[in-house]
Amino acid sequence: MLKEIDYQQILEGIYQDIKVYSTEGKQADYIPALARVNPEQFGMCLRLTNGREFTVEDADTRFSIQSISKVFALAMAMSLKGESIWERVGKEPSGTAFNSLVQLEFEKGFPRNPFINAGAIVIADVLMSELTDAGTTFLDFVRDISGNKTITYDREVARSEREYGFLNAAIANLLKSHGRIVNDLEEVLAFYFRMCSVTMSCRDLARAFLAFTNVEPFNYCGFPLTSSQIKRLNAVMQTCGFYDEAGEFSYLVGLPGKSGVGGGIAAVCPGRYAVAVWSPRLNPKGNSVMGMKALELLTTRTEESIF
Ligand code: GLN
Repeated sequence: MLKEIDYQQILEGIYQDIKVYSTEGKQADYIPALARVNPEQFGMCLRLTNGREFTVEDADTRFSIQSISKVFALAMAMSLKGESIWERVGKEPSGTAFNSLVQLEFEKGFPRNPFINAGAIVIADVLMSELTDAGTTFLDFVRDISGNKTITYDREVARSEREYGFLNAAIANLLKSHGRIVNDLEEVLAFYFRMCSVTMSCRDLARAFLAFTNVEPFNYCGFPLTSSQIKRLNAVMQTCGFYDEAGEFSYLVGLPGKSGVGGGIAAVCPGRYAVAVWSPRLNPKGNSVMGMKALELLTTRTEESIF
C-alpha cells in the first residue's frame, strides 16, 4: 500500500521554490547544438510503480540525454555479458571528471566505471562486438523500455560531438593503445556519440527508469535483466552516476541516478518511483543546478529515498 502523498502538489511547490536558481550555472557549450538550447527551461516527471504519473512545466520537451544513455548501454551489456562485463570495466567511483584522462593513463586504460566516458566507450565496443547493428538495436531498446517508438537520435548533435570530440578521441586512443577496444576506433566513437545524442523528455525518461525500480525482472527487446542485476545496476548508479559529485548527490538526494550534460537527471527510488528532471544550466561538475535542487527537495518533502 503506497503512502498518501500529494506528489502533484509537491512537484509544483518544488518548482516555485527552485525558481530562484534559474539563472545559476551555465549550459553545456562544447558543441553548438547544446549551446543553442534555451537555458530558461525546467521540466520534471515522477512516475510511481503503480503507474500514476505527475509532471510539472516542460516535462514533455525533448532534450539531449547525453550521459544518461550510459545507463541504457550498461543495462544491455549486463544482459548480454553477465558478470563477465566487469572484466572490461570497473565499478568504483572515479572521483574525477567524466572526461578525465589522468586516472585512465595511470590505471593502464582500465576505466574506473561504465558511467565515465572511458567506461562508456568500452561498453560501446562490447555492444558492437555482440550485436550486428548496435546503433539500431540500442535505439530499439530505448524505445521499448520507455514505451515511445518515436524516440530517435539527433543527427546534428551526433555529428557535432564527433567534430569537436577531441578529448573523447584521446580517451579512445588511450584505451586502444592498451588493447581495451577491439573494434574500429572511429566506429566505436561514432556509436558512442550517437548514444549521447538521443533526445527524450522527462516523461520518457521517468517511464524508462521505472524498469530500474526493480519491482520485477524485465526483458525489453530481448535484453533480460534479473532482479539481482537491476539491484547491481542501481548500485553502480548510486556510486558512480554523478562523476566527481556522486558523494554530494548521495548526500543531498539519496537516490541512485544518472545525469547528463544536456541538463537531465534520471533517478530511481527502488520499489516506489522513477523521476526525471531537466534544466540546462549546469554546475561546474556538469550536473544540472535546478535538477539537483529539485531532487533534493523531492526526497526531503516526500521522505522517500533509499536511506
Ligand atoms: N557527449 C558528452 C561527452 O562525451 C557526454 C558527457 C556527459 O553527459 N557527461 O563528453
